[in-house]
This record gives sequence, C-alpha cells and structure tokens, in this order.
Amino acid sequence: MFELRDVSRSYQIGGQEISALSHINLAFPDHSLSIVLGPSGSGKSTLLNLLGGLDRPTSGAVLFNGRDLDQFTNDQLASFRRHYVGTVFQAYHLLPHLTALENVELALSMDSPSGRRLRAEQLLEQVGLGPRLHNRPAELSGGEQQRVAVARALAHNPSVLLADEPTGNLDAKSRRDIMDLLHRLHDQGYTVIIITHNEELVTEEDRVVRLHDGMLVADSAPQALDEPNPDPVAVDRVKTRLGWSWWMAWRNLRRSKSRTLLTAIGTAIGIGSIVLTVAFGTGLQKNANQNLAQNGGLNTVEVIGQMPPGASSANFAEPKPLNLSDIDYFQKLPGVASAYGMISAPVMVKTLATEPAVINNLPLTGLPTGQKLVLGRQPESGNDVLLSQNGVKSLFGTEPLANLVGKTLTIVGTSNARPVVLTVAGVVSPTNSRDQSTSPGAAVTSGATINLYVPYPTAVAHWAGHPPAFSHAIITANNASATIALTKTLSQKGFVVFSLREIAKGIDTFVIIIQSVLGAFGGIALVVAGIMIALVMMWAVLERTREIGILKALGARAQDIRRVFVDEAALIGLLAGIIGLAGAYLTAILLQAVLKMLIERAGGTAPVSLFVVPWWLVVSALAFGMVVGTVGSWIPAFRASRLSVVQALRHDG
Ligand code: ADP
Repeated sequence: MFELRDVSRSYQIGGQEISALSHINLAFPDHSLSIVLGPSGSGKSTLLNLLGGLDRPTSGAVLFNGRDLDQFTNDQLASFRRHYVGTVFQAYHLLPHLTALENVELALSMDSPSGRRLRAEQLLEQVGLGPRLHNRPAELSGGEQQRVAVARALAHNPSVLLADEPTGNLDAKSRRDIMDLLHRLHDQGYTVIIITHNEELVTEEDRVVRLHDGMLVADSAPQALDEPNPDPVAVDRVKTRLGWSWWMAWRNLRRSKSRTLLTAIGTAIGIGSIVLTVAFGTGLQKNANQNLAQNGGLNTVEVIGQMPPGASSANFAEPKPLNLSDIDYFQKLPGVASAYGMISAPVMVKTLATEPAVINNLPLTGLPTGQKLVLGRQPESGNDVLLSQNGVKSLFGTEPLANLVGKTLTIVGTSNARPVVLTVAGVVSPTNSRDQSTSPGAAVTSGATINLYVPYPTAVAHWAGHPPAFSHAIITANNASATIALTKTLSQKGFVVFSLREIAKGIDTFVIIIQSVLGAFGGIALVVAGIMIALVMMWAVLERTREIGILKALGARAQDIRRVFVDEAALIGLLAGIIGLAGAYLTAILLQAVLKMLIERAGGTAPVSLFVVPWWLVVSALAFGMVVGTVGSWIPAFRASRLSVVQALRHDG
C-alpha cells in the first residue's frame, strides 16, 4: 500500500547538497508493522516526513495505494494528512494550552462540528487515558502525552499510523507502554510504521528496515514492489467546515486577552476620531439647517434695498428703500415663484382704548415665520386682521378669547391717513420671538409691542406710504439653482441681498473643511492602527509557528491557516470598531456638556445635540474596523500559510 520507488531527498545548505536519503526502494504492505531503524542522521525522519505527506522527495516517487503523492496538489496533500495517515512525533506536538480532550478535538474540529467531543473521549479511552481527559499536557507524564498524540493521530480513523521516535523522550516503562499500544493498534488492523534509533524496541517477530547515511542497508522481510496500480485510490479535495477559522480565531484571541484589547484600543482611537469628526460635522450641519429652516425656506432671498451706483459701505451710503416697480421687477425675474414687499408701520389702534401698535403685512401664503395660529383662521378678505396674543388684554380687556373672532378694530393713522376698520380673523402667538429679530429688517416683535397682520394688498393700500416703499422684500425662488442665480443677479444690480442658501453653502464648506482636517488626523491614526495590527499578527505568526506546523500536520490547508489569521485580525478590528464607537459616544457626551457650559456662559443657547451619529456611521465604523484588520493581517497571514510543515514543527516557539 505504501511504496517508495527510487526515492532521494537532498537539502541545499550553503550551496552544498546534503543527501538525506538516496535511491530508496521500499514497500509497506497493508496491515503490516514495520520498524525503521538507524542511527541519528541516517534519514529516518526524512523518510517519515515523505510518507506522511509533510515533505516531497527530490526525485523518485512515494506511492500511496498506487497514487504518486508528488502529483497531489497542496490541498490534496492536506486531505491525505487529515484522512489517510496519522502521525505521532517524538516531541508529541500537543498544544500546551489545550486539555488532552481539546487536543484530540482539534484534529476533528476541521471536519465535524457535532459529535466530536464524544469521539475524542472514546479515542482517549481507547489509549487508556479515560481519567485524564481534562488535564493539560504539562500535567501529564511523557508517556501519557504520547498517548494523547496517538489518540489524536487516530482521530480520522486513518489506515496508516506513522510514529517518529515515539518513545525517544520516554522512560523504560512508558516506552514499553507505547510500543504495546502501537502493537495493539497493529493487531486491530492499522498499518504501523515506527522509526527509531533504539534497538531495544525491536522484537523477534518485527519487520525491521535499517537505514544508514540515507541508504537502505537491511530489510528483514523484503517486499517486492507492486506493479503500478491501474485503479489508484482517489484523494478528495479536503473541505474545512465553514466557520472553523472563526472558531480558531476566537479561541486564539481569548488566549491573549490583554494583547487583543490593547491592539483593539489602538485601532479604536483611529476609528473613534473619525466617528467623532463625522458625528460633529453631521451635527453642525443639522443644527445649522434647522436654524435656517426656522428663519424661512432655503429658497427665500431677502432684499433689503438698493445701493446707488458706485456706492459702497466705505462711503457710508445707505441702501435706497424698495418701491412697487422694484417688486414688480423681482416678480418678473426668471426662476421667481413669488415676490412681495414687507411693510411694518407704527399705528394707533382704537377699541376700548387707543393703543400704539405695529401693522405688518402677511406673507403671500401662510403665516409669518415662526408664528402659529392660536385662534380663528387665516385672513380671507382684505379687511381681515390677525392680532398678536399679547395685544388681546390691552385691546379687548377681559373679553373671553373665544369671542374675539369677528370683533372690529379701527386703525387710526399716525399721519393724515384715513381711519381703517378691520375685523379680527384670528390670534397668533410667536413661537420664537428671538428668531424673528435675527433677520435684518424683520418686524419688531418684542414682547411689549402689539402686532397686527393684514393681507399684503391691504397693507400696500394703506400703510406702505405714498408712493409705496418697502423696508425689504421677500422673494421665493423655484429651486436651489434659481436661488443662487437670483442672488447673483440682484447683487450685480446693486441690491443688498440676504440669502439663507448662501449662508447654508458657507456652513457646508466650513463643515467640509473641519471634517477633512479632523478626518485626516483620524486617517493617520487608522494607518498607524493598520500597521500595528500587522505587527501584532506577525508576532503571533512567530509565536505560533510550531502550532501552525501542528495544524498543517493534522491536515489544515494553507488557506485555512491564512483565514485563521485574517479572521483574528478582523475580530480585533470589529472589537476596535465597538470600542471606538463607545469611546466616541462618551467623548461626545462629555464635549457636549463642556461646550454647552461654555456657550451658555458666553450668553448663547447651545444646540440640543452637537453630535449626531447616523445609523450608517455605526455600521461603517464596524465594517471599517474589520477592513483595517483584514488589510493589516494580510502579509502575516500569507506568511503563516506558506510555512513548511517540517520547518514549522522544528520551531522552538
Ligand atoms: P534522522 O531522523 O535519522 O536522525 P534526518 O532524516 O533527520 O535523520 O536527517 C538526515 C540528514 O538530513 C541529516 O544529515 C540532517 O542533517 C539532514 N537534514 C534533515 N532535515 C534537513 C533540513 N531541513 N535541512 C537541511 N538538512 C536536513
């Protein structure tokens, strides 16, 4: 079943070729037990590594059931190691942090997620370790550790058991035990190949093959080589169960908690600063837009007056008030939906008593910005008026609010104008009087002033003056681009223009600048974090070189090993994302409190939330962490996957 045909293996060392095996012809039939004997350096281990699919010959062929191992792809070789041969090493090669049971389970973990615990227990029972399942290697004797290794080698029920100096590290009693165990397994039908330098292990009945200086010098029961098998055994491509690498990655991270945490915190600083920056920018924009929306639509342009040609603020020129033809001109400009002038005239109102008031025009539709109707309805006819709530008492005394609609008031002009009788249509309350006064030229609505609102035509007819003049005009454009074009045209004509969109644009630019600068710092932190993850993973590869060798010997493919490292880094990145988000959140709360205090001390009103974290930011932060981790781990993971099994197993780590 196992044949070596003219096999040689040599190593290049410092330009010199060292021959470890030369022209070996040897056959190991099914269900046989063979002992390969030879002094140290005779090539025994080299021979075993070739049989175990851990190494490839320089020339010649190793045939397993008629198939040349050299023709196997790396994946098929991994499958061969996992399912067809079990190997036991002199140094046991158990993972020190795992219990006996877990070491055996590890071999099974790549294939079967369920039932592996039971199978591992049965295997350990079989080698007589039933009571020591939960001991770690350090708590077991050499003989016991080797029995765990034998149990692990049997995990996938291979047909061949290879043992490389299995008793080399053991005392006489354990030596005998292990040899007995191997003989017992041979009796159960396994093909067993043992290599050793110890003549004492050989009994009369054993088949003994002797090596010396890489050459076959004796064979107690020579076997003729088979004719090439016309129907060689097929070796499948090995599949590793989905999630195995994540499972391994998770276990590895739990093993080095503080390192994982420190690396994650380092990366979290980068992610956190970017999150904070974006949250701050988003908050800034949102607050600004909210404020602007309270002051009227973004497509509204306010015109305050027209500067005479050649005038500038340097010669203290005052803008000329607007007249009806200006308003007419505005209405006819392209992209304009509506335009009207604003009138705000001091008058006397006569009801029970005569009180001073300010009469204003309503917008063409709706109510003045920031005000709402507490009673009644929008004015419909030209003589309807809305009354500000603070005027109710002085104008109508104790009259119940519900009775006010339909009452009349007489406006007595301050100049020589005729009195005008108006009917109360409703009462309005300013929702936010502060915002009203922030717009230049807006009607004065301080708490004490009684404000009256009449439809635009009425206001123009009676209180705009003769000829009518306006303190300012409100133009509503059709859309954003029309607003911008309008602002430009009017400014060129010398009109003093005030556009919320211009301000919004300015704020946007400002936010983008702040975000870019702060984001750049976060970006640098992230690059550093990526490099840090790469370093930590490289360190992990070095530290776990022997473990990688063991996993490969157990049948893990290169890509399985690579995935373990990539997944480990991705998990660190995910953790970093979570820590970064939490950190950014706490920092935002803290900054919010500090800024609120500072703003309020300076007499302002702080926005409710300076930082806004949209859901996509949370998702991106987590994804970003994983990407940084994955990218950072790529080189180390690739290195780990390329390690040669034999070299890796020799590693001291
Ligand atoms: P044994 O197991 O009988 O002690 P080995 O098979 O380990 O012998 O080694 C046979 C010869 O090949 C020795 O001279 C050894 O130095 C050499 N050798 C084995 N592995 C390597 C290697 N990876 N690189 C260089 N030389 C090696």
